[in-house]
Amino acid sequence: MQLKTILNRVEKQKSFVYANFRLTEEAGKPVIEVTIQPRANGKAICSGCQQPRPGYDRLPLRRFEFVPLWGIAVFFLYAMRRVNCPSCGVTVEAVPWGDGKCQLTHSYRWFLARWARRLSWQEVAEAFRTTWDHVFRSVKHAVRWGILHRQLDAVKALGIDEVQWQRGHKYLTLVYQIEDGLKRLLWIAPERTEESLRGFFEILTDRVRQGVRFVASDMWQPYLTVTRERLDQAVHVLDRFHIMKKMNEAIDQIRREEAARLKHDGYQPVLKHSRWCLLKRPENLTDKQTVKLDELLKYNLQTVRGYLLREDFQRFWEYHSTGWAARFLDEWCGRAMRSRLRPMKKIAASLRAHRTLILNWFRAKGTISAGTVEGLNNKVKLTTRKAYGFRTFEAVEIALYHTLGALPEPEFTHEFC
Ligand SMILES: [Zn+2]
Repeated sequence: MQLKTILNRVEKQKSFVYANFRLTEEAGKPVIEVTIQPRANGKAICSGCQQPRPGYDRLPLRRFEFVPLWGIAVFFLYAMRRVNCPSCGVTVEAVPWGDGKCQLTHSYRWFLARWARRLSWQEVAEAFRTTWDHVFRSVKHAVRWGILHRQLDAVKALGIDEVQWQRGHKYLTLVYQIEDGLKRLLWIAPERTEESLRGFFEILTDRVRQGVRFVASDMWQPYLTVTRERLDQAVHVLDRFHIMKKMNEAIDQIRREEAARLKHDGYQPVLKHSRWCLLKRPENLTDKQTVKLDELLKYNLQTVRGYLLREDFQRFWEYHSTGWAARFLDEWCGRAMRSRLRPMKKIAASLRAHRTLILNWFRAKGTISAGTVEGLNNKVKLTTRKAYGFRTFEAVEIALYHTLGALPEPEFTHEFC
């Protein structure tokens, strides 16, 4: 069997033939070079208008990198023809295996992009002896193609989320589709301003926008404003994940201030190593953390009072009737306001201010599952953390669309990986 047979099986070219094969060496590594020739009757296609046009001349031999075979790099060698096109002038021909600007063939780009979903970009570059930049460009190409070809015609439920992604206070705004059977990232924008979110609604048609029935977000005012403005027909839910996250931030603040105060006044450092046993739910604690928590609960600390308020609030999510949930919410806010814990009072004030949206949780129950936004949020963090190379917004944007966008791919005659 010849290499030619395999190549014709995995990637047959309609108007071209694999003419010559050569095993050679480059920098001490084996390399396969495959020379491609146009078929005798094949007319060159103008890359401007995609029409067959008369030939003009030929350019020097070019190399296109193909999917490696047995760890051996494979290159296609081809001298591009130029055509004399009546509508585009003298242009380079279009070839099916690659495009004018890229040194990699389409197959190799999709091959690298697929691996980049399973490994970090650096690992892909190392595994296939290519560069980080080639992997990045391949993923970028896959994402562009996917965004251009994705269907956005029926979106029922949206989740809006903000994620911190660099040191300091740099945020990203993310919009997800959060339906059973279809959870995917639809939109990423820098910052968390009204503009960041408005951009998303510009990619939706009016019909799709008006078909959205539920939106989940946190209490961030710019999101609330834009959601009211663009999705006034949808039920807007302030979701559980974001509210509990705010409470944890409050407890953490109380703990830090109190620990500093105790230390300053010369008391025992009882709050040392207590952070996680306060932030985790009791059922998720390790044995050691459970012991620590039991010890803490004996003290009349502000931190403990904050912790108990949060634990009590968990009951809110268990209600079935909106009426009883509302009574509980009002009663809890009253207690938090009297707690003399500034961060907790702040939360109670904002829960009161957004009472209707919070109670919408019960109207949307069963439609939006509680863990969806949280699960996607964790995946986002994992992707941005794994990608230490992502210093630019563009790189983080491409990486997130690639891993979470559930983007479509073209149909291939052969699956290389
Ligand atoms: Zn043309």
